Amino acid sequence: MPPIDDSLIVLFAVLGLVFGSFGTVIISRVPAKQHLGGRSRCPRCKHVLGAAELVPLFSYLLLRGRCRHCHRSISIIYPLIELSSACLFVLAIMIGSLPLPSLLLAFSLWLLLLIAIIDAQTQTIHDALNLSFITVAVAHSVAIGRVQIAGALFLALFFGAQWIVSRGRWVGSGDILLGAGIGFLLGGFAPALLCLGLAYVIGAGVAVFLLMTKRATRKSHVPFGPFLAAAALLTIIFGDRILPVIIPGLL
Ligand SMILES: [Zn+2]
Repeated sequence: MPPIDDSLIVLFAVLGLVFGSFGTVIISRVPAKQHLGGRSRCPRCKHVLGAAELVPLFSYLLLRGRCRHCHRSISIIYPLIELSSACLFVLAIMIGSLPLPSLLLAFSLWLLLLIAIIDAQTQTIHDALNLSFITVAVAHSVAIGRVQIAGALFLALFFGAQWIVSRGRWVGSGDILLGAGIGFLLGGFAPALLCLGLAYVIGAGVAVFLLMTKRATRKSHVPFGPFLAAAALLTIIFGDRILPVIIPGLL
């Protein structure tokens, strides 16, 4: 595999920051059913942000996390999303190495990040984001010449069965589509199974932490999307190394 050009890594990092910034707009407007067009405003004083206040990450650092107009603090989540998005884009070019598959992988991971954050904040997975995610994940599998349906079918059926049995109480219908998208991104049955296992391990860990710190009770509903997204990311990074060790018979 040819070494990745440094300029390509820088380009992906910048693209990641720009899409991360657009992601903050999606996260604040999609759950509120607001239009995605129009200028960004300070969420507190509604002052329309100027060009200097819209540079991803740097505006936040330069303004020291405060609105230039009303001087009230801006949530740290915005620069964190921009930074995470940049990291995901760089990761995608490191893994994908070729520009087109890497770009599609980057968009998939970016959508997964947005879905996870919106699910964590609102306990809802929006169909528009899910369907975009599935489309990009399928396009990625076409671009790498490895279209597989086993992982998608397995995860969609797994969540679909739970959804039917519990009449939507254990998992939401959005989890079914999210599972399908992750399945297409991961490919076969084995990585999908690993991802599901990891999601439950992460979910259990977080649940124990929330219960012990009294941030949640036994009756609290904790959305599963963020765990699934985190597990998918881990499977993409480490799957090739973990799978041959734990389930050699499945490969
Ligand atoms: Zn303000």
